[in-house]
Formats: sequence, C-alpha cells, structure tokens
Amino acid sequence: MGKILIIGAGGVGSVVAHKCAQLPEVFDKIMLASRTISKCEHIKKDILERTGREILTAMVDADDTPSLVSLIREFHPDLVVNVALPYQDLKIMDACLEAGVNYLDTANYEPKDVAHFEYSWQWAYKEKFRSKGIIAVLGCGFDPGVSNVFSAYAQKHLFDEINYIDILDCNAGSHGHPFATNFNPEINIREVTQPARYWEQGRWVETPAILDPKCVHFTFDYPVAGPKESYLLYHEELESLAKNIKGLKRIRFWMTFSENYLTHLRILKNIGMTRIDEVDYEGKKIVPLKFLKSLLPDPASLGTNYTGKTVIGNVITGMKSGKQKSVYLYNVCDHAESFREVGAQAISYTTGVPAMIGAMMVIKGIWKEAGVFNMEQLDPDAFMEALNKYGLPWENITFTGKLPDS
Ligand code: NDP
Repeated sequence: MGKILIIGAGGVGSVVAHKCAQLPEVFDKIMLASRTISKCEHIKKDILERTGREILTAMVDADDTPSLVSLIREFHPDLVVNVALPYQDLKIMDACLEAGVNYLDTANYEPKDVAHFEYSWQWAYKEKFRSKGIIAVLGCGFDPGVSNVFSAYAQKHLFDEINYIDILDCNAGSHGHPFATNFNPEINIREVTQPARYWEQGRWVETPAILDPKCVHFTFDYPVAGPKESYLLYHEELESLAKNIKGLKRIRFWMTFSENYLTHLRILKNIGMTRIDEVDYEGKKIVPLKFLKSLLPDPASLGTNYTGKTVIGNVITGMKSGKQKSVYLYNVCDHAESFREVGAQAISYTTGVPAMIGAMMVIKGIWKEAGVFNMEQLDPDAFMEALNKYGLPWENITFTGKLPDS
C-alpha cells in the first residue's frame, strides 16, 4: 500500500491519477497537485464517477521549492510523480531531496530560456539521491520510458550484444482540429523545431530539423497503421541509451508527421510564432510561443473525437549465439479506447500508464536502488509484465523490413 503525490493536472497527470485510482491495492492514497486547482477538481470528479474513489487535491506552484517541501511533508507520500513541465524537474527533485521522498518524471530538464534538453543537470543529482537512500526514476513515459525498457529487455533476454536501435513513433490518429499538438504545445514545438541528431560509433551526427527541406525521412510500414512518412528527430532517450546499452553502434529516433502538421508549423515558424524570446506587444512583453500555446487546443481536451491508433516501438538488431538478428518490440494503442477508459487520447495514455507502472515498481519495492536512474538501468521484467496487464500490451516479432542506412 502506498501514497503517491502527482504534480501536474494536464493530459498526462489525469491519466496517471485515473490509472492509480484503478489500483487501490497499490495506491491507497492519491493526491493530485497543480498550479490550477480547478483542473485537479475536474479530474477528481471524473475519477469519483468512474471508480468510486476519492482522491485529494492541492494547489501548488512547483517552481517554488519551499511550498513543495511543505506540501510533501504534510502529505508524506512514498513517491512524487512529476508530470508538470520539464522546467520544473530540478525544483521538484530539490524538494524530494529535502523531504527525503522518491521521485519519478517523464521528461528531462529543460531551461525556460533555451530550447535545449539534456540529462546532465539531473544526472548531477545522483550522489545526493544515493546518499539519502532514495530513488529518482527519469523519463518514465513511453518514449522516453517504454522505449528504454524495451531496450533493456532486449539486452537481458534477446541478444548477447545489441548493435543498432531505431525507435519509431507513429501517431496514425486524427483529432479533427486543423492544428494541435498531442502534449504540451510549448514543449512539443520547442522539441520538433530543433536540428535532428542521431548517435553513431561514439559521436553525434546532426541533420536538418524536420521543417528543413533537406531533413532525413523515409516511409516505414507500421503494423496496423500501414506506411507512414517518418522523420529523423533528436529525442532524449538517445542520450542515455547510447551510454548504457553495451556494444551499441548506432541509435536513431523517428517520428511520423502529417504534411498538414508540417505546413502549419512551417508557417508559424516563418512568421515568428514559435520564438521563445520576449517581444514587445503594445507596451507589454510577450513570448510568442506561450501566446500560441494559449490559442491552441489543450491536449487534455483532444480525446473527445480522436480516432485511430498510435504504434510506438523499437527495431533492435544485434548478435545472438553468433548470428545477427533483428526484432521489433512495439505497442499499438487506440485513441478512442483510451478515451473510453480514462477520458484521454492515446498520447497522454501511453505516457501516463508507464508513469503509473514505474510508480508501482517503486512503491512495491521492485525498484529499490538508491540514486538517479534512466529506465534501462532498472530491471525490465516486472515492468514489461505490467505493460501487458495495465493497458499497453506489446508484441515481439522478427523484423524483416528495411531501415535507411546512415
Ligand atoms: P500539459 O500542459 O497538459 O500539463 C502540464 C500540467 O502541469 C498543467 O496542468 C500545468 O498547470 C501544470 N504545471 C505547469 N507548470 C506548473 C507549476 N509551476 N506548478 C504546478 N503545476 C504546473 O502537459 P502534458 O500533460 O501533455 O505533459 C506533461 C509532461 O509529460 C510534460 O513534461 C511532457 O513533456 C511529458 N510527456 C512525456 C512523454 C513521454 O512519452 N515520455 C510524452 C508526452 C508528454 P496549468 O494547468 O496551470 O497550466
């Protein structure tokens, strides 16, 4: 039996709260805290209607470490799940350290004023968490998250040595809006407008951003979803997997984008709407991307009419008993089914379910190491079993398709 404090009442926070509420035998007390209390109250009401369970709510500004520490000390959870924004990661880790409580998130730290994310800031907390005897689990969504666990599982059970990993993320769904992002628009647009990068033979290779006509893309034939244009993108799990998977020669990340999405984004970028610096507007300072976020649909609201599926997984090639082999580990998730179960679209669902499972691993003491860990550093077996049980079943097939050479 465990107590969990979830910070962030957005699309992902709502799924984490719903999924934890479905498991009273693991999570006996749940608190959802966020900046806007009305969002917490709305989720609380929906959970009560769906499960008959009462969760607690609180208003908190996660940028304010002392308020967070007071809230944590008052509620005294076993674990804090951070599903606010990447900007808050370090403040929430500081609060967990001060209160001596375990920590888990789904996205790595990113400073507000530079569109750049990397693990070094959070890895620097390793010794502090270790000496306090608590765990920080980093990147426990789908990608990062399940993509790391798939790699760890392949390393443990399927290969003697892994040489190539390609993570392929396909959203073949349709939300019916002319333009929307599936998770926080500010974070999403900052991520996809950056130059792409992949790792090969110990070094990073930069390629043009997805909006550049020279960007790298190819058509991949996804199970269930069929052929989709997939674009090379830099994604945070590449950094930790390149370090932690032994024998790796190359790792890349691909994501599908529709022509419609790319055209809208290209225009928004060209006219300056994706800028993250302050500009003068009628005597006031505004950040264009933040203003754009306020106009775009809230990702938490997209589920209503969403149809279609997501297909996310890893193609992994390596050696087993002296022979080369390739496997494809993937999950298919249906937007409408996710909506029926927890009132959320599949991107929030595929992020929130792994966060709940990671929380379960910590609360049950299956992951009890002290320090700061990426998911591939923790034992994958119980997590993989739980994916099948709690809504994200996976397939493991021999891969016979083709991927581009570098
Ligand atoms: P949303 O924007 O829908 O939700 C974020 C929530 O955090 C909002 O409720 C927001 O409050 C709250 N919040 C923001 N700042 C603060 C603060 N200072 N104090 C307290 N609460 C705050 O985002 P999503 O739910 O779509 O995404 C949540 C996280 O999940 C992001 O970090 C995202 O990068 C990550 N993610 C990870 C994925 C993965 O596979 N690993 C995939 C998708 C997302 P308010 O309502 O007031 O704005």
